[in-house]
Amino acid sequence: MRTDKVGGASDPFDVVVIGGGLAGLAAAWRLRKQRVLLLESGDRLGGRLYSQREDGDDYWLNFGAHLFPAPGGVVDSMAKDVGLQTLPITGSMMGIAYKERILSSGPIESYPLRLPLPVREKIAFARAGVRLKRAVARYHQVLARRPGESEAELRQRSLAYLDDRTFSEFLGDLSPETASIFACAAHRATAEPASLSAGSGIGLFALVWGGAGSLIARNLVGGSSVLPEALGRQLGDRVRLGAEVRRIAPRAEGIQQVEYTIDGQSEIAEARHVIVAVPAPIAAPLVAPISRVAAESLSAITYGPFLSMAMRTNEVAAQPWDDVYALATPGRSFDMFTNHAQILRTSAERAPGGSLMVYAGGDGAARLMARPDEEIKQTFLADLHRLYPGTRGIVAEAKVHRWQLGNVYARPGRHRLQPALEGPLGESRNVHLAGDYFAELGSMETAAKTGDSAAQRVARALASGG
Ligand SMILES: Cc1cc2nc3c(=O)[nH]c(=O)nc-3n(C[C@H](O)[C@H](O)[C@H](O)COP(=O)(O)OP(=O)(O)OC[C@H]3O[C@@H](n4cnc5c(N)ncnc54)[C@H](O)[C@@H]3O)c2cc1C
Repeated sequence: MRTDKVGGASDPFDVVVIGGGLAGLAAAWRLRKQRVLLLESGDRLGGRLYSQREDGDDYWLNFGAHLFPAPGGVVDSMAKDVGLQTLPITGSMMGIAYKERILSSGPIESYPLRLPLPVREKIAFARAGVRLKRAVARYHQVLARRPGESEAELRQRSLAYLDDRTFSEFLGDLSPETASIFACAAHRATAEPASLSAGSGIGLFALVWGGAGSLIARNLVGGSSVLPEALGRQLGDRVRLGAEVRRIAPRAEGIQQVEYTIDGQSEIAEARHVIVAVPAPIAAPLVAPISRVAAESLSAITYGPFLSMAMRTNEVAAQPWDDVYALATPGRSFDMFTNHAQILRTSAERAPGGSLMVYAGGDGAARLMARPDEEIKQTFLADLHRLYPGTRGIVAEAKVHRWQLGNVYARPGRHRLQPALEGPLGESRNVHLAGDYFAELGSMETAAKTGDSAAQRVARALASGG
């Protein structure tokens, strides 16, 4: 086994970051002037940000996260640091396709009246919608940051908000048709309404209805992977790909030994601080030797799957989905249809070709992802052709991606797990957690913010000689 050190035989790294998703990248980026090593088990950076673009192609295939937060946050600032700029999405983001009707414009309050539902259903749907709108307004009020409140305190309040009941219980009795519409929305959090806490169900709608300033309002031309790739290029040999961390072992004088495998070899990196930026179920066994309570909390955090299919299309004329960015599709094998070429449709002349994605979340995704790729493709394509018959014959390429840990979601009681995860862990107080699971619903900005906060804590400790 080889031991990695820098700057001489007795010199450990200032910090080892485990995981090269946005949380780990934000941490490594903040600490890039220190002696930092980022270990990523995969063959690329970005984690759940994943797009593919061929040289010279205007379009890119998207498999994971694609909606970027508004300017002013950590993701935006990292993008700017590497010369990238996200753009506001101009297409419709709150469309819904139910049975044969597609609604992608007009106030959402009018949807219950305009969807092909029996009158009784329209009334029940409208009532549930009004309750939800009021709850979202209250959510914004209650969770506005209070003067002097820390990130951790705000997080705790946010996680505790209506987490004594499920989203189903909050919605009340709904007919199967109306329930399927809300279930489709909950699948965006990879959960079923009966598992999701009421607070996170409401938070999900607050996010979707958040408008231009929200966490999900923008796109990166070229695809989401452009950002981690650019960060990776600048981080250079501070990043090691294909490096799977197996164990963190405390050593004398507060130094942590991070054991990992790379190219079939076992190696050790010694570090003054470790930032663990992998999903909670993977983080749990890694931090168990450092903090048993943190490991127990991490093991209790819930994730659901996403199953996505990215498609390259070869149409030569304008299409009915050109102005649509995202469409919820209840009652189909996928829950969401997204049009990744929409951001490029700026000139009067419509360029040929396009890029679409469909994805399913929750129980439906779990069932379908167990099937072979070809069956998944045929299932998704059959529903896509029913949704937009014009897609028949123009799908030149379709690729399936399975996300077993697609997104984190909060179950009732989630806030009780949080205190054990905050702050530095262990006797030496030099192991730190970061990841999207710090919030009730996973997002790029939460991931990046927690990585950045952990890095700032490390920078302060290093500066004070700790
Ligand atoms: C289909 C899909 C759509 C989404 N849409 C959006 C969206 O539009 N907007 C949005 O804000 N969010 C979206 N999300 C959520 C968003 O992608 C995540 O919240 C965020 O990217 C999580 O970042 P992370 O760094 O916490 O975790 P991850 O991205 O999961 O990164 C963890 C990294 O750790 C690595 N790793 C794991 N184990 C080890 C180990 N033992 N050693 C070393 N490395 C290891 C993994 O390979 C991975 O690269 C979406 C997610 C999916 C799957």
